[in-house]
Amino acid sequence: PIIMTQSRFTHREHLKYPFEERGLQFGDGIYEVIRIYHGTYYLFEEHVDRLFRSADAIKLKLPFNKEELKKLLLELLSRNEMKTDGKLYLQATRGSAPRDHIFPGEDVLPNIYAYVQDLPRNLDSLTNGVKTITQRDVRWENCYIKSLNLLPNVLAKQEAKENSCYEAILHKDGTVTECSSSNVYLVKDGKIFTHPAKNNILHGCVRMAVERFAKKHNIPFIEQAFQVSDMSSADEIFLTSSTSEILPIIQVDNTVVNDGKPGDITRQLQTAYEKDAKIHQTI
Ligand code: PLP
Repeated sequence: PIIMTQSRFTHREHLKYPFEERGLQFGDGIYEVIRIYHGTYYLFEEHVDRLFRSADAIKLKLPFNKEELKKLLLELLSRNEMKTDGKLYLQATRGSAPRDHIFPGEDVLPNIYAYVQDLPRNLDSLTNGVKTITQRDVRWENCYIKSLNLLPNVLAKQEAKENSCYEAILHKDGTVTECSSSNVYLVKDGKIFTHPAKNNILHGCVRMAVERFAKKHNIPFIEQAFQVSDMSSADEIFLTSSTSEILPIIQVDNTVVNDGKPGDITRQLQTAYEKDAKIHQTI
């Protein structure tokens, strides 16, 4: 496979960094994951905008502007002759330099790479829903930055897996923020509730799309955090992310949601998503 590194293209095997690399040693970097359907990026502008917001937030100067990056990423698709459903992963770190917490000098350029790979849609989960556990959100206050520091997210997701669940719903003192790698929503009396897009959650690109679909279908989209205790009386609960799309949640810890069946509003949003992303094979 061909990858993009800095602003060039090369074979994956040729990508080599010295072991003193700031992404590896400090998690000093940012990333993006973009969904690909039929060889086309979905929510492309939103992801590119967020990458630049993350870069600004950590004072990382990217060596291209948004238009230049979009051109490179489109070329990456064509060089790989990508025609299927997949994902792009891109990361940018503060570069390779002797280990020191202080930023390296201006002469040290960011290390950047991006690759695309196949990722079929998980039709089983999309159709039947997934189970979740709740976990304390022990992350820092700036989760709106899509940073490489994912240890709390990794541990939360692993805990979910060890409990035969798909995701961990995170909460701070009982207030639900988001999941380990997705945003989460509660439906009650025909209204969608989700944590406001503040600094302590990632502003999901699919979340932006869900807000747009809700407005179009006259479903109230209320940015108001809900509590772990609210979930036992929820009509529906669902999560969103670029890799997972819009997934019904049918269980939270030991509580079954909506008799274990995906709800009507979740289904309506899934249909809107498939239409928006021009997906041929619908669920
Ligand atoms: N929240 C977290 C912590 C994530 O890691 C992700 C993405 O993987 C999301 C939310 C969803 O973001 P997006 O919809 O842009 O994929």
